[in-house]
Amino acid sequence: MTTGYIHSVESFSTQDGPGIRYVVFMQGCPLRCKYCHNPDTWQKNKGEQISISTMMEKIKSCQPYFNKQGGVTISGGEPTLQIDFVADLLTACKEEGIHTALDTSGYVKQDEFKKLLPNLDLVLLDLKHLDDKQHQDLTGVSNQKTLDLIKLLESERQPYWIKHVIVPGITDDLDKIKELASYLKSLSYLKKVQLLPYHRLGVHKWEELGLDYQLSETEPPSEEKLEKIKEIIKQQNIKVEIK
Ligand code: SF4
Repeated sequence: MTTGYIHSVESFSTQDGPGIRYVVFMQGCPLRCKYCHNPDTWQKNKGEQISISTMMEKIKSCQPYFNKQGGVTISGGEPTLQIDFVADLLTACKEEGIHTALDTSGYVKQDEFKKLLPNLDLVLLDLKHLDDKQHQDLTGVSNQKTLDLIKLLESERQPYWIKHVIVPGITDDLDKIKELASYLKSLSYLKKVQLLPYHRLGVHKWEELGLDYQLSETEPPSEEKLEKIKEIIKQQNIKVEIK
């Protein structure tokens, strides 16, 4: 019996994909994003150990709320760290006719990710920085796997959204945004870009875990800056929203 470790669930989210979403937050993440608001998901074998059947009972009890236009989103942490559990959960959701989405940093091996594709309706891909050096500085890892995953999604004709956190001084440089926009323009199965303003809601968790929060001096971006960034992306005929 496949089991997985989950951090928590949210039964009524409007932030994690189309419509109302039942979100499963998985434990474990190989990245260490400076702005992470869920550092308590980083350890892999913590949280609640749960079977697919118990998880599905929970999901199905909420199905009347999300059934029409929403669905289930598997998030984290980095959910692909528990690839077998995620693959089985996606299969079980599709057997119930539930729309499925996976929120990932893209830090995953391609052959593992391919296991998920048959039962995945939408990928929410967090592209944290297009510049590899700055990506490494922000997250601790290279963006190569994420860029490779975009190529895979394109070749598999898999619809996906790109999420991009706007952090003043790190990801809000307008020249870099122009480079990002022209890269995004070349993608065929990209359905939407979501710009997520940096916030500090998770800082207390860093303190509780005794971790050093390096962005304590960073303020959220201004609405004016966000609108400028949105406009640059929109000019490339890409659907874009600020979340
Ligand atoms: S990928 Fe997500 S969970 Fe992992 S460190 Fe980054 S923001 Fe946190």
